[in-house]
Amino acid sequence: MKLMLTSQLGCLLTGLTAQPAGPEDPPISLIARTSSISTSSQINTLRLDAVRQAMPRVDTTLLSPSHYDNDASSLRSPSEQDSDSEDDEFLRHPRSTLELTSHDRAVLDDEDELEKLLTRGGPANGLRRMFSPNGNSVRIGRRERRKARREARQSRRERVSEEGELMYEMEEGIGDDAGSFTSGSSWDLDEKEDHLYQPTPPLRWWKIVLVSAIIIVLFFILLLGAYKASSGFRASHPHREPTPLLSNGTALFAPTTILISLDGFRADFLDRGLTPSLNSLVAAGVSPQFMNPSFPSVTFPNHFTLVTGLYPESHGVVGNTFWDPEYEEEFYYTHPAVSMLPKWWNAEPLWVTAEKQGVKTGIHMWPGSEAHIGSEEPSYVDKFNSTESLQRKVNRVLELLDLPGAETSHLMPERPQLIAAYVPDVDRDGHKFGPNSTEIRTTISHADTMIGGIMAGLESRNLTSVVNVVVVSDHGMATTSNERLVQLEDLVDLDLVEHIDGWPSRGLRPKRPEDLPILQKQLEDAAPKYAHAVEIYTRETMPERYHFSNNDRIAPLWVIPRTGWAIVERPEFDAKKALEKGEAYTPRGIHGYDHQHPLMRAIFIARGPAFPHKPNSRVEPFQNIEVYNILCDSLRVDPAPNNGTLRLPLNTVGLHSDEDTPPIETPSDPPEPAETTTHVKPSPTTTGPSEPTSAASDAPPTTDSEIDDEKGPTWWGTLWHKVGDKVDEFKEWTGQLFNAEHDNHPEEDGS
Ligand SMILES: [Zn+2]
Repeated sequence: MKLMLTSQLGCLLTGLTAQPAGPEDPPISLIARTSSISTSSQINTLRLDAVRQAMPRVDTTLLSPSHYDNDASSLRSPSEQDSDSEDDEFLRHPRSTLELTSHDRAVLDDEDELEKLLTRGGPANGLRRMFSPNGNSVRIGRRERRKARREARQSRRERVSEEGELMYEMEEGIGDDAGSFTSGSSWDLDEKEDHLYQPTPPLRWWKIVLVSAIIIVLFFILLLGAYKASSGFRASHPHREPTPLLSNGTALFAPTTILISLDGFRADFLDRGLTPSLNSLVAAGVSPQFMNPSFPSVTFPNHFTLVTGLYPESHGVVGNTFWDPEYEEEFYYTHPAVSMLPKWWNAEPLWVTAEKQGVKTGIHMWPGSEAHIGSEEPSYVDKFNSTESLQRKVNRVLELLDLPGAETSHLMPERPQLIAAYVPDVDRDGHKFGPNSTEIRTTISHADTMIGGIMAGLESRNLTSVVNVVVVSDHGMATTSNERLVQLEDLVDLDLVEHIDGWPSRGLRPKRPEDLPILQKQLEDAAPKYAHAVEIYTRETMPERYHFSNNDRIAPLWVIPRTGWAIVERPEFDAKKALEKGEAYTPRGIHGYDHQHPLMRAIFIARGPAFPHKPNSRVEPFQNIEVYNILCDSLRVDPAPNNGTLRLPLNTVGLHSDEDTPPIETPSDPPEPAETTTHVKPSPTTTGPSEPTSAASDAPPTTDSEIDDEKGPTWWGTLWHKVGDKVDEFKEWTGQLFNAEHDNHPEEDGS
């Protein structure tokens, strides 16, 4: 601030001082000065005539330094010209514009002084004479004046050459700048001459007042500029244009986006003829054929990725369940007392980004929204309730939308600009019945009806082209089978394992550090035999595309099942016995596999004013790390740093209806193994990074029969949802049940 102020002052004063003596206009200056002498001091005509005779060539040739110098010096007596030979010496050398300017100014100053001396001596020197204490004429000696002038010039040259123009103007300060209205040296000389001539209070006070006024005005201008700059910085979006408000006829809407997450809604669910509302949204908006989740393709990591733009390894929620070696504590997604502590959530979610920038948010049950992450809370946050009906979710979204907004100029707007809602139903029933079951068709249809309810609510409010709607899912779903089970005890000695992280992938942490190489050796030995069923990695050998290694919360050893396979542990589940008894393995559907596998594909559909694309536009598939930036752009807030690179407007590659659009891939269930005892099936392939392929299979899709699932629809919700005091006992029981499951059956809760 100080630097800015002084430098700008310097610039201004440079302009002021340069003008009368600048190298580009010395002739005009000289002529003006001479004429002013002749008009204001007509009585001195004779003397001025004498002066004019001494300066015969006041013309354009003055632009030439040498001529200029000649003319300037011609105002002096021959003896002075001789004695000022240093001027000539100065002019003979190549000079910069800066040097010329200062030299010219010095010469002009000298001329100015001479004029003053001449005029002062005249009998009609009005004001000066009136205020003169003695009315004396020139007494100052020529030698003295010459000496003073030379010293002043020398001083100025030294200053300029040493410090440069800006610093010169800055550091000379106000006194010198004020003097420079006439000239620095004449100011000095005036000081000397004050005892000989009368002081000139009116003129000098006028100068001081003028300069002071300019400085004060400048100061306030700079102060205003600094305030504006800092307030812009505080608002965090200094580059953004003011956002135009959109009207639906009765209310004004700042950029508003409704984000709906349909948990576990696989991309090809859109192609089953069950989803007229979602298909209408595709037809009216912009979407890829599918969106890839991030690895591991489970709910909590991906929901946090959707609202942070970060890979799970970067935002810290690396699984639904994981051990933190620093906290020596386990994150378990269905234990809200633990999982909703902010220490687990190491990134800025969208609601914090928005609230920090003055954009209100209403978050309905989004995973993590109750964790008090960062400096800001959502303006509205709805606690998780697994039993809430889809119609109530529709009502809640529309209720938030109906709150007073920017049209109530006398009040703070209450309406949130981001409304994010979480819908667990499709995932819940996908786990319970499997993605190809009859039951899931009903659930998919209900979810579509819910989207239709929101769209109808927007239409009835004339908001279809005012409010953005973005529908996403977090991952797909794969059918499980008794035929695709691996008994973990067949791979490693679990007595050496302290913690097992994740689901369905299994991250192993040894009890003792020295057990790690033993466990690793066991897995390496087993790997060839199970290559058809699992991938085995250390954190170091994890495929780069998983972005799943750079966090201490990621276990050192991993057994990752191939899509559709499940890893089981005794005594909860014995794969061999189950096969012998004909027991069915549950859950019937699982996700969490390779995030690029077709069965793990999610959806992204967007429409609204932030997506001004042709209806039915198609974009290339992308990973869900891109969603955060897109949402920020739709709300016109600046995103926090993240792994995404896509920004609005999205680059479309045509329409979904175009002939060259790739055919929609309907992924089949994973292939059934040829043998029933899969855990001993030899395989020629080796474990290692595998590229995802469509799980093409001749086997018909598994149509799961109705099987009682004791988990029911409360796969995680009843344990999270706070019920009343009347069910405290029930809670205690479920807590015990859950802890037992946590220890023994984490796969049963796989989400
Ligand atoms: Zn999920």
